Amino acid sequence: MKNSVCIVGGGVVGLLCAYYLNKKGFEVTVFDKGKFENGASYGNAGMIVPSHFIPLANPGALAKGLQWMFNPSSPFYIKLRMDKSLYAWLYHFLKNANNKHVNQSAELLYKLNLESKILYDQLKDQLGDFGLQQSGLIMYCKTQQALDDEVQIAEKAKQLGQDVKVLDQYELQTLEPNISTNVTGAVHFKDDAFLNPNELMKALKTHLRNNGVKLFGGSTIDELRSNGRSINGLVVNSEMISADHFVIAAGTWSGELAKSMGIKLHMQGAKGYSFDLERKHFPASVCSILTESKVACTPMGDKIRFAGTLAIDGINDLIDQKKLNGIYNSIPQYFPQLEGHPFQNYQVWHGYRPCSADGLPYIGRTAKFNNLLIATGHGMMGLSLGAITGKLISQAICNEQSDLDDSQISAERHNTRPIPHIF
Ligand SMILES: Cc1cc2nc3c(=O)[nH]c(=O)nc-3n(C[C@H](O)[C@H](O)[C@H](O)COP(=O)(O)OP(=O)(O)OC[C@H]3O[C@@H](n4cnc5c(N)ncnc54)[C@H](O)[C@@H]3O)c2cc1C
Repeated sequence: MKNSVCIVGGGVVGLLCAYYLNKKGFEVTVFDKGKFENGASYGNAGMIVPSHFIPLANPGALAKGLQWMFNPSSPFYIKLRMDKSLYAWLYHFLKNANNKHVNQSAELLYKLNLESKILYDQLKDQLGDFGLQQSGLIMYCKTQQALDDEVQIAEKAKQLGQDVKVLDQYELQTLEPNISTNVTGAVHFKDDAFLNPNELMKALKTHLRNNGVKLFGGSTIDELRSNGRSINGLVVNSEMISADHFVIAAGTWSGELAKSMGIKLHMQGAKGYSFDLERKHFPASVCSILTESKVACTPMGDKIRFAGTLAIDGINDLIDQKKLNGIYNSIPQYFPQLEGHPFQNYQVWHGYRPCSADGLPYIGRTAKFNNLLIATGHGMMGLSLGAITGKLISQAICNEQSDLDDSQISAERHNTRPIPHIF
């Protein structure tokens, strides 16, 4: 038996860190403040996205975001409030929303997502079926402008090595014969995939328990105790638990925990919603995104999941009916067979994407402590990047050289320069 690791957070990222560390022979314990079912990792859209090589911080998001801020039913929203961490996040978002950052991040994001897809394919042999389907992602475009933009992204994707096809109406009908669409055009990113996140999480928990990983629910970690450059232990229910290594993988909540240890992560939770219809109402077979309204649609067994909205309005359980109506109203515009469907009758799930300000995850060792690692900040891609993150964390703990190691995803990249006082 190698030495021990404690992981804070039992979402997809924490559990996949546990998986790869357990495989390497570590004694692994995962603590979750809930019952391993209240993070973002359950109700998400389950997409694995090599096509998402443009980080959230990009010039287009900036322009669109400003436009959307004033539309209550738009898919994006930031509630400005007196909050130092929001100000720091916005500062770093604005600083990175430029073409240089987009160009520097594209290859890395593509490689991380592609490698993760390969790992999920291997994982299904270990964990059993969790609904992995490698049939790509369709971007549906209502307007010519959105289609032109998507075709440009497709060209860049091809330059990165991706298999992409701009579909004519006949090709679209052939790919999705059981649904009707009302769109100007569509682009098929064939390297993407999707899975059922609920099934993945269930299979992971079973596998980990069967392989000796300890999973403790109802265990909020408020404090990590250090001695010089080492973490000695974490405090759970007034008891100190020691280990050789510690990983913070607490999703949206990671920023606060890291801050208590003097480590700066610029993170905001971005609320999103989802709901599941019976598949018989909409028998699509490929996952898709309604480009203009940013609504995701994913087949999951006998259900079809719609997901949308990215609202940075603090961590609260408020459901914004106007945003939900925005999702409900947009669906029949693309899929006319769902006109008049009673979407409002479905139970709505909400979760928080752990969004870093520059749109890149934080993965790896901290400089301040020699046995503390961070695995968070994946934003809209935490499911997609979960497997590669777990593998990279296990390699970092073993001091192994990794092909994908990159200072752009370093856990320490925001601990160097103070933020100027602009306001
Ligand atoms: C509507 C929506 C759709 C999405 N669609 C996709 C998609 O298609 N593809 C994709 O890749 N991503 C998608 N995402 C994003 C993805 O869901 C997240 O990036 C991912 O789930 C983050 O995983 P995580 O493990 O970091 O965090 P979480 O799943 O949030 O897990 C964090 C865990 O940490 C625990 N925790 C927090 N603080 C503490 C503490 N102090 N002590 C102990 N435990 C703690 C929590 O209880 C929680 O279980 C979507 C998100 C939303 C909201």
